[in-house]
Amino acid sequence: MTQNDKKRQDLVLEAKQFARETGPRLKESPDRVESAKKLYGAFAKKNYHALLIPEHCGGTGLDFTSAGIIYETLSYHLPGSLHAPLTTAHCAEMIKSANTDVLKDTYLSEIARGGLAVGFCLTENAAGSDIAAITTKAKKTREGYVINGKKSIVLNHAIASYLIVFATTSPEKGRAGINAFIIKPETQGVKISAPYEVDGLTGGVMGEVLFDKVPAGKQCRLGEEGSGYFLLMETLDKGRPLVAANCTGSANRILDIIVAYTKERQQFHKDLFSFQGVSLPLAEYATRLHASRLLYLDALERIDTGQSFSMEASMAKLFAAETLTDITSFGMDILGYRGIVESSAIKKIFQEAQLMKSIDGTANVQKMVIASQL
Ligand SMILES: Cc1cc2nc3c(=O)[nH]c(=O)nc-3n(C[C@H](O)[C@H](O)[C@H](O)COP(=O)(O)OP(=O)(O)OC[C@H]3O[C@@H](n4cnc5c(N)ncnc54)[C@H](O)[C@@H]3O)c2cc1C
Repeated sequence: MTQNDKKRQDLVLEAKQFARETGPRLKESPDRVESAKKLYGAFAKKNYHALLIPEHCGGTGLDFTSAGIIYETLSYHLPGSLHAPLTTAHCAEMIKSANTDVLKDTYLSEIARGGLAVGFCLTENAAGSDIAAITTKAKKTREGYVINGKKSIVLNHAIASYLIVFATTSPEKGRAGINAFIIKPETQGVKISAPYEVDGLTGGVMGEVLFDKVPAGKQCRLGEEGSGYFLLMETLDKGRPLVAANCTGSANRILDIIVAYTKERQQFHKDLFSFQGVSLPLAEYATRLHASRLLYLDALERIDTGQSFSMEASMAKLFAAETLTDITSFGMDILGYRGIVESSAIKKIFQEAQLMKSIDGTANVQKMVIASQL
């Protein structure tokens, strides 16, 4: 066993231990923001928001493969609760790719050491899959920029200490006119909505963010002028296999629940598992689950070893999200009314699966990325 394998193994054991201790304490209060802060604080204490941030900035300094394995482990034990630290990890990657060493180390250190959450402000009412259609504007001034626009769905919106916002400085340039800015939510003109009521987002928050004449100094722009679209694509690509790892953990949990249940539950004087109408679909789902894991690990290894990874990242996200959706639907069929009662784990994962379909791009968007490389 290499030193890296040993480190991974220890971190996985630690993640299981963390989940065992944290799970029972995850009682959601009616105040979504308070619940989200509490859960985020627990994740951040163990650096799960900063697995990919370098050690000299206070992060864990892991490679993508190790981070994926840990996120899968956490998702298995705490399904539906990883969106907040994963969003921060996405945003930290964007900061890592974008800036000069001094500036990026400052932000990354603050995020890692301070246990801070970050929000990712891209989607607008008229710009969902068509990212380049954003209309939020960053008008140039002598001091920097003034940002105006509305982002319709932002994870972490009410707990974030930083927001990364995408805006266009030159609409006539299309993609080349898009830039990313890092803004503090307390900046004058930033308005955070009340959280949406969303099922399947355990201990997380999301909502609308309005930018009304928000001043942003030149140093708030991430990367070179006009580099926002490239940054966005690179970060989305890197995030997709991590989302796939999240889906894989949840899908594995559901599979284990269904197998245990069908081996126990008796109908027609036999356990359900003994009917091939039940066990053969489970065999197929176990195979798809294994394939999901191999796909996300392959994409992450490609990132770690400097190979092209965009197509493989989309394949991993597409396959893992669809596998999760299909296993949970099957589980709901098998568990019947038990699957929909209030406290059922399968119900929570079913709801999460509906969200996972569009996070980091819908199935069709993944297929568009894959097709573009065929
Ligand atoms: C839980 C959750 C968290 C999210 N968090 C964030 C966040 O933190 N920040 C953020 O900015 N955004 C966030 N999003 C938004 C997410 O990225 C968008 O929902 C996603 O990009 C899809 O956009 P849309 O819902 O507007 O769908 P649309 O783009 O309107 O698409 C609707 C349907 O049409 C299909 N479609 C669209 N165009 C094509 C085409 N050319 N060919 C074939 N089919 C097509 C799509 O696949 C989809 O099925 C989040 C979404 C969810 C569900």
